Amino acid sequence: MENQATIDELRKILFYISKGYKLPKIIHDVIFRVAKYEIEEKKKVVLIKRDPNIHSGRIQAVYVRIIEGEAMDIHPATVGGFGADFDGDTMSVFVPLSKEAQTEAKTKMVRAISNSSINSPNFNLTNEMLIGLFTLTHENANNPPKIVKSMEEIVVLHPGIVVTFKFKGESRTTTAGRFVFNSKLPPWYSFIDEPIKKKNLGIMFTEIVSRSKSDYAVTIDAVMKLAFEIATKYPRSISLDMLRIPPQLMKLKEKLAKEKDMMVQQEIIDDMTSEMIKHLQAHVPELYDILESGASKGYGQLRQLMIAKGLFSDAEGNILPVVARSMNEGYRPGEYFNAAGGARKGIVNRVHTTAHGGYAYRKMVYVMGNAQANPTNKDCETRLTMKIKLTPDLFRRMKGRYVQDTFGGPFIPVDKSMIGKVINLRSPMFCRSLKICRTCYGQLIDQVDSRNVGLIAAQECTSLSEKIMKSFHTGGAVDLKRPDIIKMLLENISDDMESIVKKAFQQEDMSLVSNAPFVVVNIKKSLYDDEYKITEDEEYLSLPMGYFDIRYDDIVIPMTIEEKTRFYLKNAQREDTNTNIMMTFSAGEHIFLLQPSSLQPDEVARRLDKYVGGKSPWTTPESLYTKFYKILGAMGDWDSVHLEVILSNILRWKEDPHYPARVKYPYNPTTFSIKSLPGVMSWPLGLAFENFGKAITYGMISERGTESPIEKVFFGESLLEE
Ligand SMILES: [Zn+2]
Repeated sequence: MENQATIDELRKILFYISKGYKLPKIIHDVIFRVAKYEIEEKKKVVLIKRDPNIHSGRIQAVYVRIIEGEAMDIHPATVGGFGADFDGDTMSVFVPLSKEAQTEAKTKMVRAISNSSINSPNFNLTNEMLIGLFTLTHENANNPPKIVKSMEEIVVLHPGIVVTFKFKGESRTTTAGRFVFNSKLPPWYSFIDEPIKKKNLGIMFTEIVSRSKSDYAVTIDAVMKLAFEIATKYPRSISLDMLRIPPQLMKLKEKLAKEKDMMVQQEIIDDMTSEMIKHLQAHVPELYDILESGASKGYGQLRQLMIAKGLFSDAEGNILPVVARSMNEGYRPGEYFNAAGGARKGIVNRVHTTAHGGYAYRKMVYVMGNAQANPTNKDCETRLTMKIKLTPDLFRRMKGRYVQDTFGGPFIPVDKSMIGKVINLRSPMFCRSLKICRTCYGQLIDQVDSRNVGLIAAQECTSLSEKIMKSFHTGGAVDLKRPDIIKMLLENISDDMESIVKKAFQQEDMSLVSNAPFVVVNIKKSLYDDEYKITEDEEYLSLPMGYFDIRYDDIVIPMTIEEKTRFYLKNAQREDTNTNIMMTFSAGEHIFLLQPSSLQPDEVARRLDKYVGGKSPWTTPESLYTKFYKILGAMGDWDSVHLEVILSNILRWKEDPHYPARVKYPYNPTTFSIKSLPGVMSWPLGLAFENFGKAITYGMISERGTESPIEKVFFGESLLEE
C-alpha cells in the first residue's frame, strides 16, 4: 500500500495548508473532495464569526458549500447580523468535530429567528436590495390599465406600467412591479399594494417567519435575487449636480443664518429637511429612492451635504454656532473651524462609547449570569403585577406576555385591544420563583429555548456598542427636541383620561400651564440626595430630574422626566413637610419649565451608567423600568421581557441584598450598583469579577447562614463540592 499517506505525511500536508502554501494539484484535489464529502454532503455545520464579537449575532452556525477560491462567500441577508461589508472584512471559520458539538451547533446556533424578540427574523435585506425593491414597487407610469393574462407578460414590462391581472384568484389593477414582487411571496400571503421599504419589508418577513420557517427561507432568497436583478437593471447613479439647492430653500437658509434662538434654529432646520424631501421626490428621484427605501442612513447626512450643516456640538457637548452653509457650497474659514469641532465630536463619541458600552456589557453579563428561568414551572402565582400603559411600541415588545384583565381574575395573553390602557402585566420583576416561571416570562421562553435568560437579556439589551457605533456618522450633529409635556403627562395614564388631562393643562412654549382651578405638585424629598439636589433661587425650585406627582381632582399623574425641571416658585402656594414639598398652582399659572433636549449616544451611555450604578433616583419599579426603556428602547428591537429580567436582578431585597427582592416578602426592593452586585450576590462571583477586596468585604457582610460559601472557606471546606 505504498500510495497511502502516513499520519506524519498528512500532518505535514495540513501544516503547509495552514501556512497558506500552494499545494500540488493532486493533493489539493484530494483535500477538496474530502472536505466536500465530509462537510457538504454529510450536512455538517461550521461556525463563522466576525470580530469584534460584540453581540450574539456575530457568531452563527451555517450549512456550507465548499468552493474554490481565496475568499469565503456569505449570504447577503446575513451581513446585518455580522455587521459585515465587503471592503476586506475577514471572518474566521470553526468546524465542530464531535457528533455532540455538531448537534449542539445545529440546535442552538442555526437560527432563523432571534432571541431578542418573539418572531423577529435573524436575516434581512439591506442596501442595494432595498433600492431594488423600492424601485420595483413605487414607480407609476400613469398609463391606462393594460389587461394581461399571464405573469410572463408582466415580467417583461417596465415596473411602473399599470396592469389589470388576475392574481391569487383575484382581479387587481396595480403596477407590473408590484405583481412581480408579490409573485415571490408565499401563496398564502396577502397582496402588498404599496412601495416596499425597509420597514414594511421587516414586518412582512416577521409575519412569514412566524407562520413558516421554510417559507421564510424560500421567500428571502427569491426576493433577494429579484432585488439584485432590479437594482442592476435600473441602476441609480448620482452626481454633484443633483445636490443643487432649490430656490425656496435659499430663503430658509437666510433665515437660519440670522436666527439667534437655538430651538427656532432647530425648527428651521426641520422645515428645511422636509422641503428638501419634497424637492427630491419631485425632481431628483435617484436620490429620493435611495433615501426613502431605507438603504442609507437617512436624510440628516444629505441635509448636511446639500442644504446646511445645521446644529452640532464640540467634544465637550457645547452646542456651537449654527452653520447655514452646506458641504457642497463650502464653508467659510470660521464655519470650517467649528465644523471640524463637530467632526472631532463624532470620533470622540465613537471611541468613548465603544469602550464604555463594551464595559457596561461585561458588567451586565456578570450580574445577569445567574438569572435563570424554569420552563417547567407554569406559574409562581405572584400577586404583584407591573402597571404600565400599553403603547403600540410596548405592545410589539410584549407579545406573548400575560396580563390580568380584571382584579383577581385569570391571566390572559396580552391583546391588541389593550393598547392605550394601563395593563397589569405579569413580569419577571415580581416572579416569586427563584428561577423565573413561564407566566411571568411569557411565550418567548419557547423560542429562546434556554434556561439562561439572564445572559440572553444582557446580550439583547446592553450590547450597546454595536448599536451605538451604527449611529455615529453625523459629524457631531445635534437634533434638539422641544419637549412635549402634554405627551409626558399622558404617558402613565390610560387613553380614556386623555380628554380630561388635555382640558386641565396646556403647554406654552416649554412650560406647563394649568387650566384647572387647583393643581398640586407633590415632591418626595427622599428621592433627592447630595448628588441629586433640590435647589432653589428667587425664581425657580429646580429638580435635577423631575420625579413628582401632579394631582388634579382625583387624578394622580406620576411624572418621570429625565431632564432638569424648574418650578415657578412665585406662582405657587407652597407647603413643606418633613418628607414632602407640596406646591399648589391655580388656573392660568405656569407650573414648570423644561429645556430643549437632545439625546446623543454619549448621553445614552452616560445615563445608562448612572442607572445601573444604582445612583439615579426612582420611585416605583415601574418608574425604574420606564427610565431604562426610554434610553434603551430606541437602541434595539428587543422584547420588553429582557429588560424586566435585568431589573428583576438589579432590584434586590433591602434586608438581605443577596436575594432578588421579588422572591422575598414583603416586596421592598432597593437597587445596587451593578459593579458591587456580583459581590453581594455571591462572593465567588465577586472574586471573579474585578475587585476582590470588595468582594470579600461584601461576602462577609451580606452572606448569611452556615451554608454560605465564605463560611465554608473559613471552616476549611471545599467550594467545589456544591
Ligand atoms: Zn413567576
